[in-house]
Amino acid sequence: MIKPKKMVLASANSGKIKELQELLADLGLSIVPQGDLNIPDIEETGLTFVENAILKARNAAALSGLPAIADDSGLEVDYLLGAPGIYSARFSGDGATDATNREKLLNALTDAPSDQRGARYQAVIVYLRHADDPTPIICQGTWEGSIAVEHRGTGGFGYDPIFYVPEMACHAAELDKATKHSLSHRGKAIAQFLQQMSL
Ligand code: IMP
Repeated sequence: MIKPKKMVLASANSGKIKELQELLADLGLSIVPQGDLNIPDIEETGLTFVENAILKARNAAALSGLPAIADDSGLEVDYLLGAPGIYSARFSGDGATDATNREKLLNALTDAPSDQRGARYQAVIVYLRHADDPTPIICQGTWEGSIAVEHRGTGGFGYDPIFYVPEMACHAAELDKATKHSLSHRGKAIAQFLQQMSL
């Protein structure tokens, strides 16, 4: 595959932008967040991570004229039958923040027995060579864990302070960056993407 010199990153989420820039550093190209090009967020009207990632990447590619990469991700909680899922960023409604989303989730799980607090992060990465690309690269990663009863750690973003990581016996926000990348949904999806880019 021909590697571009520059691509636009279709996200305004600072936690996500930071992680994706770190994960994509080995590509050795310029990754420009869409905000730097004054590209606004598009409404996420899809019903799947794949649809929303395509919508975001297409919007950024169309408005920048550059290849675009997008990440649509979220948290699925067993006790909530998979919610908040694609609605993870807006779980607590208008004006939602990471803190209000975590608070709403902990409240929703007050009565959940410990064996029903299972959860997983999902990430779908979409890469479009241009806005009309009919064959996007689509990669997916999953990270299994559970929802803890209290906050721990200051790293990461989003639900990380309450996401318990069984293989490390700690919360995701307690992991250093490299360890999170080696285990996370986003790290796994980007590893597949990097493999495809090197073909
Ligand atoms: P999106 O921007 O619509 O894809 O929303 C993603 C949302 O899922 C974020 O705002 C977080 O709430 C959650 N999320 C996705 N990945 C992570 C992660 O790595 N750590 C914590 N929360 C995440």
